[in-house]
Amino acid sequence: MPLVLASPRPAGRRPSGGRGRPPRHLADLPLAERRAVVAGLGEPPFRATQLSRHFFGRYTDRPEEMSDLPLAAREPLTQALLPRLLTPERELACDGGTTRKTLWRTFDGALVESVLMRYPDRVTMCVSSQAGCGMACPFCATGQAGLTRNLSTAEIVAQVVAGARLLAGGQVPGGTGRVSNVVFMGMGEPLANYASVLAAVRRLTDPVPEGMGISQRSVTVSTVGLVPAIARLAAERLSVTLAVSLHAPDDELRDTLVPVNRRWKVAEVLDAAWGYAAATGRRVSIEYALIKDINDHAWRADLLGSLLAGRLAHVNLIPLNPTPGSKWTASRPAAQREFVRRLEAHGVPVTVRDTRGREIDGACGQLAASASASSASSPSPDTR
Ligand code: SAH
Repeated sequence: MPLVLASPRPAGRRPSGGRGRPPRHLADLPLAERRAVVAGLGEPPFRATQLSRHFFGRYTDRPEEMSDLPLAAREPLTQALLPRLLTPERELACDGGTTRKTLWRTFDGALVESVLMRYPDRVTMCVSSQAGCGMACPFCATGQAGLTRNLSTAEIVAQVVAGARLLAGGQVPGGTGRVSNVVFMGMGEPLANYASVLAAVRRLTDPVPEGMGISQRSVTVSTVGLVPAIARLAAERLSVTLAVSLHAPDDELRDTLVPVNRRWKVAEVLDAAWGYAAATGRRVSIEYALIKDINDHAWRADLLGSLLAGRLAHVNLIPLNPTPGSKWTASRPAAQREFVRRLEAHGVPVTVRDTRGREIDGACGQLAASASASSASSPSPDTR
């Protein structure tokens, strides 16, 4: 048995402080390569398809649940292709159990988060693409801690499979269900981990047994605005939604809120976004966290509206979820309403994101931040 979901690693054992290379997993590989691994173990290649159906279709990596495999082959095959990559460190639920956040510990001791959100018409998994993040946005909890490492493709996919397993097992109120949407809005900058994220998108959206069979249109990749990577993603000709975390329409403010803006300015980021929209026909989502008296001024709403008017874009306003100790708070309701009104006056579609999961540290990186703060008293090489 590779690793057991229900038995977290004993506290304090951190093999390499979150800087290791995760073991190979079938979700890292296209099906043809899984077949080669299976053949290398002396098993018929079709066993790769069987294993893939267990993982992507039945959401299991447990040898005892693989009755179509010969008993003697189950252990070697699961050890070679289905190592357990993530161990739950902490699980929190709210909204009557329909919002569930999991803090995962990776094989090398890094902490990452995922959140499942069930709505009447869909289930969204919010996943992490990196342990930590190197983008240093000052309002974001993950940004405060810096980057630990990139997640592997399988470490990303495993977060979604874990949610799918809960839903299929009827463990989320509302009856059995499936993951319909995936958003790369957990920890990390997905486009700074391009190869693993792109392979994860393919694994999530290719049909079983190649992948999990989620619709590409239901996947959203969110970025701070890494311009060359946006262009590269546009050239992949996928139908995934691009979200751009803009947060300010002017370079002076955006240089401070999203420091990578010093490298790629607002105009360049938006040009790349329009290139993405042209290549894919997909409306780009412009993310804007409303921060009281920082970026919620009426003139900024007008400037944003004028930049986006007539474009294939939609603004998603996010009331700031203040990180612990932050001097910033969410905008006043009147300022938020006025911001919406002015964008709409420019003909720009706008929604205000619901604030699900707030009471369980739902915003980016907050759970991992509080977990490492509570273990900070026991010195460990990877405590930041
Ligand atoms: N690095 C990517 C994806 C992760 S963050 C990106 O920046 O897009 C997902 C979204 O949550 C981003 O729009 C980010 O700016 C926003 N976010 C981060 N911290 C937040 C906070 N404290 N309150 C509200 N939104 C936040």
